[in-house]
Amino acid sequence: MANSKFEYVKAFERDDRILPSTWIVVRIDGRGFHKFTERHGFTKPNDARALHLMNAVAMEVVKDLPDIVLSYGISDEYSFVLKRNTTLFERRESKIVTTIVSNFTANYIYMWPDYFPETKLQRPLPTFDGRAVPYPTTHILRDYMRWRQVDAHINNLYNTTFWALIQQGGMTAAEAEKELAHTLSADKNEILFSRFGINYNKEDEMYKKGSVIFREFEKGKEVDGGEDVPDERMTKSQLEKRKKAYKKSQIVVRFVDIMNDPFYDERPWILG
Ligand code: ATP
Ligand code: ATP
Ligand code: MG
Ligand code: MG
Ligand code: MG
Ligand code: MG
Repeated sequence: MANSKFEYVKAFERDDRILPSTWIVVRIDGRGFHKFTERHGFTKPNDARALHLMNAVAMEVVKDLPDIVLSYGISDEYSFVLKRNTTLFERRESKIVTTIVSNFTANYIYMWPDYFPETKLQRPLPTFDGRAVPYPTTHILRDYMRWRQVDAHINNLYNTTFWALIQQGGMTAAEAEKELAHTLSADKNEILFSRFGINYNKEDEMYKKGSVIFREFEKGKEVDGGEDVPDERMTKSQLEKRKKAYKKSQIVVRFVDIMNDPFYDERPWILG
């Protein structure tokens, strides 16, 4: 294989290694899910089965790629944050993105029957696109997470009101859209409450906040620094302790606020 006269074609490849020491965020998104969700009879505005499926799939991706320190999912999308100093695939962008996308897609299709036992998958099968974006500072990374969670909130409030107008108010989609044009958040809360007796604050946290996946340790047994090779000055017993704590730690899905600092301050091992 090596050194054939055809080897020169390799030189046409582009070096796509992502800038060192940046947070790499890979966001995947379902292709044409507006149609896909209709075809497969998703409950509107939120099909809980589908969200739990997305979370279970993301969990598999995180288990497969331990350099992912934080993930966030809403609707048909998931963001995966790789630790700053990751050397996964030498930080080559296309390797990272395609591996995450195909891992996600394969698991989505494999696990589908567990969450939709009565619904056979139809073509076009679910597929996902993906992109990687490097963020140079933790501040900007946190703003990225805020951006997605604000989006989740705005979309969910809109969709909840939109579907209440249709399902309980008997409107057509066009009428509901017109009704909601130029309304503010407060107006939508008011429509939900006064017309349909829905208190938005009491809606499911998974719908309002989205899903956050991260590592959680037993209290008092937290290990900083992710899975980095530990400092060589550590004694054998310190290393053992660290290993044990890691083994006992768990990857969890929570529906929590990532807008504000406490989430990170309480878990310094996530972003440091
Ligand atoms: P694109 O290929 O450009 O991403 P799309 O149709 O997937 O097109 P999105 O902006 O990604 O467009 O929107 C996702 C669609 O899937 C929305 O219509 C959303 O309501 C629907 N959807 C995703 N997850 C769920 C769910 N759990 N329950 C109900 N509907 C969902
Ligand atoms: P990487 O993740 O870096 O690609 P890899 O193990 O997939 O690692 P490749 O260089 O892609 O490494 O090699 C593919 C491997 O799969 C080889 O060992 C090859 O012999 C094996 N393989 C692929 N297709 C077949 C096949 N049809 N029958 C038998 N072995 C196969
Ligand atoms: Mg889109
Ligand atoms: Mg989509
Ligand atoms: Mg989407
Ligand atoms: Mg291979």
